[in-house]
Amino acid sequence: MNKIQSYLKIGVFLKALLHLFYPHICLQCGTDELGEYQVLCDNCESQLPYTHFTQIQHSPVEKIFWGRVQISSVVSVLFFTKESIVQKIIFELKYKQNKKAGYLLGRLIAYELINAGKYNAVDYLVPIPISKRKLRTRGFNQSQIICEAIIANGFNVPIFNGLTKSKHSDTQTHKDRMQRGAQSENLFSLAHVKVITNKRLLLIDDVLTTGSTIEAACICLLEANPLTIQLATAAYTL
Ligand SMILES: [Zn+2]
Repeated sequence: MNKIQSYLKIGVFLKALLHLFYPHICLQCGTDELGEYQVLCDNCESQLPYTHFTQIQHSPVEKIFWGRVQISSVVSVLFFTKESIVQKIIFELKYKQNKKAGYLLGRLIAYELINAGKYNAVDYLVPIPISKRKLRTRGFNQSQIICEAIIANGFNVPIFNGLTKSKHSDTQTHKDRMQRGAQSENLFSLAHVKVITNKRLLLIDDVLTTGSTIEAACICLLEANPLTIQLATAAYTL
């Protein structure tokens, strides 16, 4: 066997090994007819619960932030409900370390942003950070993966990584929104402040629920006096 043949064999072996850990079948219908970087087949992807929020003025996701923090526009691409395919995709990304699920979410956000038109004026993508503890267990920040996929799919804007999350905040789940909003204020810290002064920022996160994490991140970013803050998330919890 010559060298090229043995390299090819190793390649096939590695691919088979990868598919053993991440079975290469559609998460929804189980077909194996899907591309190398996909987690859903084309048919299941077309049937996802799209919100089409970019087509309405004052969408429910924009109203979440009214009276709380100045975010000029908000888009969430999919509806998130329990036991749904969207929950499965997010779970794959966050708890099964399946980055391909993040590539799908990033691609959907990129298409939405490009089609909506109003997001042309963006200087930096800002992934919502996770705590160091979560970063250690998960191995990556899911919002960072989504940002990279957004860029790879034609929305070519640099990533600003100066926002960090200093504390772990799992215990907040059962507290009410007002309490949480106030408590979250100190969760984030900001470096390289001057980089984003007078710049148009687009925050990126996986799921939008109460908005308190986003609100806290915005309060922190506002210290840098950015020109505008917009938000795009893959999903919105109904
Ligand atoms: Zn399918």
